[in-house]
Amino acid sequence: MSLTELSLHDLQQQLQTRAVSSVELTRAFLSRIAATQGQVNAFITLCEDQALAAAEAADRRLAAGDAAPLTGLPLAVKDIFNTAGVRTTCASKILADYVAPYDATAVARLKDQGAVLLGKLNMDEFAMGSSNETSAFGAVKNPWNPACVAGGSSGGSAAAVAACQVPASLGTDTGGSIRQPASHCGVVGLKPTYGRVSRYGVIAYASSLDQVGPLARNVADCALLLQAVAGHDPLDSTSVDLAVPDYLAALGEGLAGLRIGLPREYFIAGLDADVQKAVAAAIDVYRGLGAEVVEVSLPHTEYAVACYYLIATAEASSNLARYDGVRYGLRAEAAQGLLDMYMQSRGQGFGAEVKRRIMLGTYALSSGYYDAYYLKAQKVRTLIRRDFLRAFDQCDVLLTPVAPTPAFRLGEKTADPLQMYLSDIFTIPVNLAGTCGLALPCGMSGAGLPIGLQLVGKPFDEATLLRVAHAFEQATDWHRKTAPL
Ligand code: GLN
Repeated sequence: MSLTELSLHDLQQQLQTRAVSSVELTRAFLSRIAATQGQVNAFITLCEDQALAAAEAADRRLAAGDAAPLTGLPLAVKDIFNTAGVRTTCASKILADYVAPYDATAVARLKDQGAVLLGKLNMDEFAMGSSNETSAFGAVKNPWNPACVAGGSSGGSAAAVAACQVPASLGTDTGGSIRQPASHCGVVGLKPTYGRVSRYGVIAYASSLDQVGPLARNVADCALLLQAVAGHDPLDSTSVDLAVPDYLAALGEGLAGLRIGLPREYFIAGLDADVQKAVAAAIDVYRGLGAEVVEVSLPHTEYAVACYYLIATAEASSNLARYDGVRYGLRAEAAQGLLDMYMQSRGQGFGAEVKRRIMLGTYALSSGYYDAYYLKAQKVRTLIRRDFLRAFDQCDVLLTPVAPTPAFRLGEKTADPLQMYLSDIFTIPVNLAGTCGLALPCGMSGAGLPIGLQLVGKPFDEATLLRVAHAFEQATDWHRKTAPL
């Protein structure tokens, strides 16, 4: 096995026994990126010089015996995280040249540990999309089949791990954007509970839903990264001041007495046959491991997509009002006067999907429609959250598919936004409920594409989620398969 195929934990051990230096590792991943970027397009910006300097510093730290868990490990982050001195585009023309003066808290925490940042990963523009096709920097290609989407919006974060360009990455998940691309690319992705990880310095899409989380080759590596970024941040008032458990220690605890709930509404006609089979096999694995499987109900599931697309677009229309060409971002120079400057800058800077969402959201918030749409959606959201809390009276985790189908073909859904929106039906409710969810590989389709399993945990119980996912990995080897790239 080459270095670039190893897990974060394996690489950590190699660094700490001095079998390899951080500079060697960094060079190995940079040359893998150089060899495969043309096929995958996972990166928007590479930071070679900064990465090598950080690797040298990490090597000194390792030699001095004062290494943190991530010291010297190469990582990359979605291009939605502000990074001091390195441009943050959010995959939009309007921020193509934007360089933030500070690091997002999650990035700062990685850097404090001595992690090496290789670059900024491709995504859907402003994280709006499920296929990475809305990026102003081109679509990401699925490393398992370049004719297929990588998923989105954190498509680059998932594809880079699947293509062995990085051992792990950070993404964000507003309606499935970590779990769905992880599933389509055959890697593990975790969306922590709303409030678990600081969003300070993360460009806002829908602020009541956005959450930061890790993508990696296995569950233990996700636990390692979550440990690094989780916890209260005085700079994000939505981050919760709650003790962060030792996630790695919790992994080995076994499944005795565990109850897994299968939400009836998630196992519906229309589910792809390969997905259905793989998820059914996963349920059998859990039975074999001694878990008790019970049926539960999430009765408001059918309203989740509509509810999400009102709340997310309403919040987006407000969050994106700040891109007006005045203080930062693209400005239309030929404009005649202030209003024209606003209109031309936004007209030229935003892509079609972003404009569609701003219009939808502005409409939902407008006087006369606010009660009928936005307020109603907020009430439905409460019902959806209650569904989950009630289901958790009967079980410890929920088990569902991540997406109704494996990765679809590039271009297949771009002409029909509604079809694209519906592909998030199993991930969106978890964000509306504000709880945690994880995607992990559980099978392959007949066409050779990965299939993911979703586990959903109680609010702030990422430890159980990781433990249940880890037990599955110990019993199977879907997570060991590598893309043929
Ligand atoms: N696909 C969903 C959307 O377009 C979710 C995106 C996300 O989680 N950022 O809104």
